[in-house]
Amino acid sequence: MELPKEADKEVCQQLEQLAEAGAVLENGGHGDKVLGHLSLRDPRGRGFWMKRSGISLAELQGPQDFILLDFEGKKKAGKGKRHAEWPIHGEIFLARSDVNVVGHTHPYNAGVISTTEEPVEALTKAGAFFSSGLPRYRKTSNLIIHKNMGTGLASALGHAKAVLMRNHGITYVGSDVAECVVVGLLCEYACRDQLRAAMSKLTFKISATAASSFRSHRNLFVEEVWESLRRRVTKATGAEPKEGSGNYLDRFIEANRILSNEGVEFLNFDLVAFKDPSRRIICGLPELSLGEISGSDDLIVLENAPNFYPGVNYLKKVFSILPKTEAAIFCCAPSVALFSSAAEPLCPTGDEGRHFEGLSVKILPDQAIENIPPDTRVVFLPNEGAIILANSIEVACLRAIFLERACSIQIDAAATGLAWGWLPDSEQGVVGMTLEGQGQIENFWSFYKRKLDRKDAGQPLPGE
Ligand SMILES: [Zn+2]
Repeated sequence: MELPKEADKEVCQQLEQLAEAGAVLENGGHGDKVLGHLSLRDPRGRGFWMKRSGISLAELQGPQDFILLDFEGKKKAGKGKRHAEWPIHGEIFLARSDVNVVGHTHPYNAGVISTTEEPVEALTKAGAFFSSGLPRYRKTSNLIIHKNMGTGLASALGHAKAVLMRNHGITYVGSDVAECVVVGLLCEYACRDQLRAAMSKLTFKISATAASSFRSHRNLFVEEVWESLRRRVTKATGAEPKEGSGNYLDRFIEANRILSNEGVEFLNFDLVAFKDPSRRIICGLPELSLGEISGSDDLIVLENAPNFYPGVNYLKKVFSILPKTEAAIFCCAPSVALFSSAAEPLCPTGDEGRHFEGLSVKILPDQAIENIPPDTRVVFLPNEGAIILANSIEVACLRAIFLERACSIQIDAAATGLAWGWLPDSEQGVVGMTLEGQGQIENFWSFYKRKLDRKDAGQPLPGE
């Protein structure tokens, strides 16, 4: 399709990214029919480029799906209709010279939290991003279709990165596409965690250290997360597996990809590490998400990985404290991360929970990791996630999958408010169910591998 002359090279490059942002946001739970929009400040001062109406975020293809509007809402270039809520964008650009990209969407969890006065806290990393405050717009629940409504929203936003709109949705901003999208995603994840915490009857605690350490790495984090998310939506079927250099390496790469395929991950935060036959500790490149680890080029010796990644730092510590550890995973999967901030211990509420009975430890906020017992299988890190320890890469990977479900079941059982509990293991008296024996590890492993292979081949199993 022919583009208007106003869409020069610089504009087009950024609108390409903004179109990818639509797909990334849709993947992150921001899709709502053909509602929601994104915009870019015009670098020549002519107004702003806004997604055209009538298509969903997921359907954005490129610059041809944006129109140029001036600050009065008059269309200056491009094909397609204008969204009625254009004043959200125009008024924020006028009020905030630091903002070049604006997003407005209706994700589910933020929608629910917007109906309450529940503060969004640093329960997890996503919440930590907003721990200095997430403002609210309370003037109306209607669409923002007049300039004075846009001005009101811009003033509610103030100097913040995002604003919750009562009974409606969220608006978020950034100096570039990367920042705007990541803020939007984190806002919805933070609301999801807050909502789940509010529904469950567990006791949640917040560590000041976890919240502030996350904020200090914000800029690095934003760029890398965005690049990782972009790669996911621009590749049709995810990472193509490359040749490893030996069986153990292939298993390691499979472990990363299986975890990603099972949803046991959070953005690009998680990290898997293991000891290779020469006893070096190897991990994935920390800037990659688990699903992107596809060949030996994507690996690094843990010792050489930079400490400013929280996962690198924690894994170095546990391998040195517990030298018998063969494999370990820094896991920030949603239920694991949320449960890490609950005061209650992990219980055998579901089948998977029995693997961790008596073998999980909760580090208290700001407490040192050094004193964990030697046979520990899980160390919960408050407001962050957990470290999973094992004697092989396969067991570590399976434990991570089991742990995510065990945490989820306990949170949801608690949320029912019913009399929930579990039966003591009177039969065996064994602490912690084991995977060893009767080919269990291989059975589970090959099942997850089959799922992965079928997905790669475009023939996922039913229910996937
Ligand atoms: Zn709206």
